[in-house]
Order: sequence, then structure tokens, then C-alpha cells
Amino acid sequence: MTGRLIVVSIDALVYEDLDHFKHLPCFSRFWNEGSRVNRVRTVYPSLTYPAHTSILTGVSSGRHTVINNEPFLPGQSPRPWFWFHDRVAVRDIHDVAKKAGLTTCSLFWPVTGNHKSVDYLIDEYWPQFKGDTLEAAYKRAGCSDELYEAVVRKREGSFRAFDSSVTDYASTEIACDIIRKYKPNLMTLHLTLVDSTRHDYGVFNDKVEQAAAKTEDFLSMIFEACREAGTFDETNFVITSDHGQLCYTRKVNLNRLLAEEGLLELDADGTLKSWDAYVESACFSAHVYLHDPSDKALYHRVEKLLGSWCADHTYGIGKVYTADEARSDFGLYGDFSFVIETDQTTVFSSKLSDPVWVQCPPEVPGYGRATHGHDPDVGPQPVFLAYGPAIRKGAVIPRADIRDEAPTFAAILGLDFPEAEGHPIRGLLKDRGI
Ligand SMILES: [Zn+2]
Repeated sequence: MTGRLIVVSIDALVYEDLDHFKHLPCFSRFWNEGSRVNRVRTVYPSLTYPAHTSILTGVSSGRHTVINNEPFLPGQSPRPWFWFHDRVAVRDIHDVAKKAGLTTCSLFWPVTGNHKSVDYLIDEYWPQFKGDTLEAAYKRAGCSDELYEAVVRKREGSFRAFDSSVTDYASTEIACDIIRKYKPNLMTLHLTLVDSTRHDYGVFNDKVEQAAAKTEDFLSMIFEACREAGTFDETNFVITSDHGQLCYTRKVNLNRLLAEEGLLELDADGTLKSWDAYVESACFSAHVYLHDPSDKALYHRVEKLLGSWCADHTYGIGKVYTADEARSDFGLYGDFSFVIETDQTTVFSSKLSDPVWVQCPPEVPGYGRATHGHDPDVGPQPVFLAYGPAIRKGAVIPRADIRDEAPTFAAILGLDFPEAEGHPIRGLLKDRGI
């Protein structure tokens, strides 16, 4: 029998949510008749784009090179995100499945634009400039003319809303149409409502529970589409997530302080003129770049400065990692020289126009309440639940690594993924799935 796998990423879903979710009809099937990993260690920084790339590739953020949501373009605002798959330095599960002759589909999954191994592709992407259209944008990122006409055009209005409850519903309808019409062997789908609700209202609250209930509806729609396609009994389903979130109360713009130290220069209008050191935000962490990383005097000056800010406790820095430490502790590497980690209440800003400190009290509207990007071992952890013919019933694995997910997907499909850093989570799988 040809393997089938549908992976649904519920962005920012965490283990603590499952007490509420496990009583909902579709979730209960995963909980009672499938298997799960209670806590998954994600990548550093615990951001959507690095984590989703690790879910598909089975390697750390440094190795696949998507180390932030956006490329490092100092002083540029707004910036493009890592939309396109040519940024990813290694193979992913779609490449593995396609090479094995399986059909593939990816919907609204980060960093998949123009992915050559995805047969039915809609990247997480949107119009990029005034006058750009949804049709032009989606097709620029690899959506075929046929797919656009078949599943997107009738829902164009939903994607103009920029409301996750509306776009997730439309995304799920598109997934269901593709399941019924094309029956791909592998589908990866990214839903964002739980994440956006947490950003807006905080990590745990009634709004998040309501978002969970809507996400249950989306799963129910996918189950029903598989039944209508006649593929339900042969399909394995996975619910995964990318990171937790933590609440924050303030933002710190360390580039303003670097300017005061003469390490960064701004024009009169606040635009970046030159820089010797630059702090690139990853929300609850940041990467510190040196214009000349081989300049030892500059390196030691910035190292000393960061150490003094960390010791002061007023700058929001909980810890400073050297590049070597970030690589050995988290598999995070790139062109930066240091990584700074939050004190767990402070978010780092790279927006040069921001003041040094911005207080974000919960009672004042207009600020987010929670975000991520922090040390992956801190705070609520993402989950992994599986249900289907290749999945055991009732196995509960306490911990796994996000890099184990892609080789587990491969094992579910009866394939190998030898270059992944992780390993199949064999405790979840029936013998036939290995
Ligand atoms: Zn996310």
C-alpha cells in the first residue's frame, strides 16, 4: 500500500494546550487512538521559519541556514522574509518523497517558495508591494496556473483579510480540495491562528482556547475530505508545532546604545549610515554581527560591552553566547559573532527608529502580549501527535528533538532520510512503518 501522510503544523501549539484539546473530537483521536511526544525541543532561535525548516529537513538552524525569519539586511525596513526554498541548504522530506516517486503538496509552509520537489505548492507568501496581486505573488512563489484556478481564485477575498481565523479556514478548504482532487501522498499544511492569538492576547487565556476550538474544526474538515477521497484509512496524520511563546513587558533597542558607543552611525533622519557592530533581533534573542569579524580589538570591545549590559540587568539580556557556544549548545551558526538571550520579559528590537526602551504594559492596546525566539529549553514546549495505520496506539514519548520529525515522516512513508541529524521516533511507529 502506498504511504500517505498529512502533516498539520499548528503554529505555537504547546503541551499545556492538550488538556483542553484532548476532549475535542478530532484531537481526541490523536490522544486516545494515536501516539504522541509530550515535549519537542525546537531550534534556536525558536522562530517560525527556522523551526519549520528544521521540521522538514531534520537538521539544525545553522545547517539549513534559515537562522531567522528574515535575512540579515542591516538598516533595511521593511525586509523580505525567507520566502523561497533556494535558501535552504539541505534536502527536505519533500525532496525525499518526490525522489521515491510520491506526489507532494505543501500549503502555506514557510520557506517553500518555488520548491522544485513539491507538486502542489502554495508558499506562505503574500503581495509584496503596492499594485502586487495575490495571483501574481502566489504564482511568483511557485503556485501553478492550474492550481490557482482550481483552489485559490474563488478564495482570493479570504487572503486579503489578514485575519488568521479567516485565512486558516481558507487554507484548510484549499487542502481539502487538493485531497479530494489530487490525493497527494505527502501534504504539509501550516495553520497560524493559535500563534497569532497568543501574540495578541498572551500565552494562556480564553481567546487561545477559542482558537483551539476553531483549529479542531479545521482538522475535522481534513478528516472528512480524506473520507470523501477514499484515503482516510490509509492516511497517517501528524499534528506538529514549531515553538512555544512567552509573555513580554518591554522592548529594548540595543542598536541605539551601540550608536551612543560610536559602534553604529545614523543619519540625521535616523537611517543607518555605517556600523561596526549591529544587533539583529530574533525577538526574544538577537544575533550580534561585527562588520569585520576578524577585527580582534572590535570583537573584545563588543564582548566586554555585552557582558557589562548582561551584568547590569536593565538591558534585558539574560545570557550572552559566543558564536562557538551557540553552535555547540544549539546547532546555531552563521556570520554573527555573539547571540544574546532574553531575561524572559524583554524583546529585542532592531527597528532603528525605536527608542532604547519601550514599555509594553498589558493594559495598553497596540502591543503584542507574547512572542518567541528564545532558548528552546525555556517555557512551554511544542508537541508532536500522530494517528494512522503506521502509528502505534497509546505510545507516549516524554521528549524528542524537532530534528527527529523529518526522519519520522520518512519512516511513516517507508523511506529513509539518512542525512538528517535526527532519528525516527521509533516508539511511535508500528513495525511496518519503520
Ligand atoms: Zn511559529
